[in-house]
Amino acid sequence: MIAEGLGFGICLGGVGYFSAQYAWWRPVVDWSAPRVLMYHMVRSHRPGTRFNKLRVPPEQLEKQLAWLKARNFHFVFASQLVSDEPLPERSVCLTFDDGFEDNWTNADPLLEKYGACATLYLVTQRDGGWSSKKKAHHKDDELQAEPKLTDEQIHNMVKTGRWELGGHTITHANLAKIEDQAATHEIAGAKKELDTEFQVNSQTFAYPFGIYEPRHSQMVAAAGYRGAVTTESGIEKRPYGDPFQIPRIKVSGTEGLLGFSMRIRGGKRGLFK
Ligand SMILES: [Zn+2]
Repeated sequence: MIAEGLGFGICLGGVGYFSAQYAWWRPVVDWSAPRVLMYHMVRSHRPGTRFNKLRVPPEQLEKQLAWLKARNFHFVFASQLVSDEPLPERSVCLTFDDGFEDNWTNADPLLEKYGACATLYLVTQRDGGWSSKKKAHHKDDELQAEPKLTDEQIHNMVKTGRWELGGHTITHANLAKIEDQAATHEIAGAKKELDTEFQVNSQTFAYPFGIYEPRHSQMVAAAGYRGAVTTESGIEKRPYGDPFQIPRIKVSGTEGLLGFSMRIRGGKRGLFK
C-alpha cells in the first residue's frame, strides 16, 4: 500500500514536471495569428560550447518544415506581416538573425525542398566589426568564429526568391548602450546599405539581442521600416497593436519536435519559456 502510494506520488510529480516543461494545458493561440519563428544557425552542434541553442541541426530543421508542411502551414515573409495583405490561417514566418553562412549552405536547400521562404535579418558589417557581446565582459569568440554569409551568397539568396532581407544594424549594436546619433546610424545606415547593395526594399528590422527602448522603435520607423521583430516569446494577431514590437517564437537547437510544436501552439514551450 505504501509502495503503491509512493508510486502514485512519483507519477503525479512526473505529470507536474512534464506539464511545466510542455504546456499542453496552455490554450492554443488562434490560428489566424501568424507564427513568427526565430532561428540563428542551421548546423550541427559544437560539443562543449555555449551557444548550441542557436544551432539547429539541418535534420531538425527538416523535421520542423515537414511538420509545418503536413499541417498545411503557409510560409510568408516578415514584410507580409506588416502589409495590408490578408494572410491565410496557419501562416508562418521563418526568420534568421545575423547572417551565418549555413543559412545559405544548409537552410536554403531545405527551404527549396519544402516550398518555404524566410526573412534574413542581416548584420551589414559581418567581418571584423561583428559584435555578439551583450555585455562587455562576455567573450564573443565563439559566435565571431562562425562563418558569415558573403555578399555574393546573399545576392544568390535574394535571387532564389526564397529570401527577403531585413535590418539588424551595421555592427550588431546593443542599442541601449550607444548614443542616439550612433543608434540612428546603426538603424538607418543598415537599411541604406542593404537596399543599395542588394537592390531590395527592406521592410522590417530585428533589434540586436532583442534590446531596445521606445525611442529606438521610433528610429526604426523613421528609417523607413514598416515593422520590427523582438526576441520576446509569443504570438500576436494582425493587425498588430504595435508593428514595431512583434514577438517571435524561439526555435532552440537543443529542443525536440514536441517542444517546437508546443511553441507553435501557444508561443512558449512550457510554463516559463
Ligand atoms: Zn542578432
